[in-house]
Amino acid sequence: MFRRATRTLLAIVMVMSGMLLGVGATSGTAHADSCYTWNRTLSQGSSGSDVTQLQIRVAGWVTSGERLSYDGSYGARTTAAVKKFQAAYGLTADGVAGPATFSKIYALQDADCTPIHFSYAELNKCNSDWSGGAVPAATAKANALKTMWKLEALRHALGDVPITVSSGFRSYSCNSAVGGSATSRHLYGDAADLVGSPSFCTLARQSRVHGFSEILGPGYPGHNDHTHVAFRPSQFWSAPTCGM
Ligand SMILES: [Zn+2]
Repeated sequence: MFRRATRTLLAIVMVMSGMLLGVGATSGTAHADSCYTWNRTLSQGSSGSDVTQLQIRVAGWVTSGERLSYDGSYGARTTAAVKKFQAAYGLTADGVAGPATFSKIYALQDADCTPIHFSYAELNKCNSDWSGGAVPAATAKANALKTMWKLEALRHALGDVPITVSSGFRSYSCNSAVGGSATSRHLYGDAADLVGSPSFCTLARQSRVHGFSEILGPGYPGHNDHTHVAFRPSQFWSAPTCGM
């Protein structure tokens, strides 16, 4: 009798701890939605600021030379980018952003909305407040966030290899101190000088399919010791040593 009661009690405790573990596992993956939470499934035809938030996170999953617009309008190009993102992370590639897609994004981002392998501190070694560049501080910081999500895609596509940003945002004074061009995209916050385990040519070539319209690598003056990626209105890629 006593034994049976103990067994029953044990069984109850085990079920309860299993439930607790289940809850813990769920909140463990969901806590990174603290910077932004999607409240509905998004698909082609959707529009709104939640679409823009999605576009920021999938803009690194495009075709060669393509740049996804952050226009809050879920069109064919957003669908294609979501499909590429889903395929890259082993999800069903249906182009519809639902719970599985958002759950993966939450797992990939920190509480400040930066992707887990990059940070605002890494993208700004110049000053603490993003001031003094070619655009307002908030714009420079927002540009850096967009660049980081493209870098996260690049990093994953290369097999999750470590990539380090040696220089990101620069104020005019930081830029002239390192001899940067007077029109450098570093002044806008969207440029990143990449070093790390992939070769500079691998970084330059692979960057073409991750939404970077400016790529400068080996063979381009001043770029033999890193690969520079950035956004610019019209495409400019040059890395002659890499055949680009
Ligand atoms: Zn650069």
